[in-house]
Amino acid sequence: MNMEKTIIVANWKMHPVKLSQAREILFEVIGGLKSTRDSDKEIVFCPPFLWFEDLAAQVKNKRGVALGAQNCHWEQGGAYTGEISSAMLANAGAKYVILGHSERRQLMGETDEIVNLKIKAALKADLKPILCVGEKDGEEMNIRVEEQLSKDLASLSVNQTKEIIIAYEPVWAIGSGKPCPPDSALSATLFIRRILTKLYSRFLAEKIPVIYGGSVEAQNASGYIKTANMNGLLVGGASLEAKEFLKIIGSF
Ligand code: PEP
Repeated sequence: MNMEKTIIVANWKMHPVKLSQAREILFEVIGGLKSTRDSDKEIVFCPPFLWFEDLAAQVKNKRGVALGAQNCHWEQGGAYTGEISSAMLANAGAKYVILGHSERRQLMGETDEIVNLKIKAALKADLKPILCVGEKDGEEMNIRVEEQLSKDLASLSVNQTKEIIIAYEPVWAIGSGKPCPPDSALSATLFIRRILTKLYSRFLAEKIPVIYGGSVEAQNASGYIKTANMNGLLVGGASLEAKEFLKIIGSF
């Protein structure tokens, strides 16, 4: 990804239930992109695995549109029933993979150590990890985010970390209809860059895209880009409604 491009990630989670519905959303969004207005944006659709290859064929060679997975395993192959590897995803057309999403951390018991292994596996397959970090309700942002960044990025080289996108997603803002105020998102971005400077260098910290996720909709999206100075957005619920998602894309 080019740092000048604003990245807008559509996390479809476990939706929709039919391939025809997935195609409909994808086609409507792609059809509504404006080549002049949206040429500085990269739209990353993250559908369920099952719809992956079909949608990959639809977005092939479409500029500014890419596919990402919502998870991957930390091994490239092997006796891991029910799992999917980063190598398989790369071969199926994925360019990105969301890792460490709070739903996986909370509901599937993913630890920072597992997230770290998955980041390494993703990089090995040339996928760009979108690493989600953020505090739960009642937790201190600084403490939680520093802990996640240092553990999730443990033993990664500068060359590996420079391929990563960080998504700041306060857990209390995800799917709650309570978005993080842009000035708090700005503080979180600055804090993330401060930690990356401590772990690596200022140069690297300024190169890594930091995006925001948590109850983004058309009427609040531009605040994160313009006020909070973020490099993009991770959109859950609103990315399943093509018209609303297009409004988000067109709002800055
Ligand atoms: C998400 O899925 O990470 C997310 C931010 O969801 P929502 O936009 O629905 O809050």
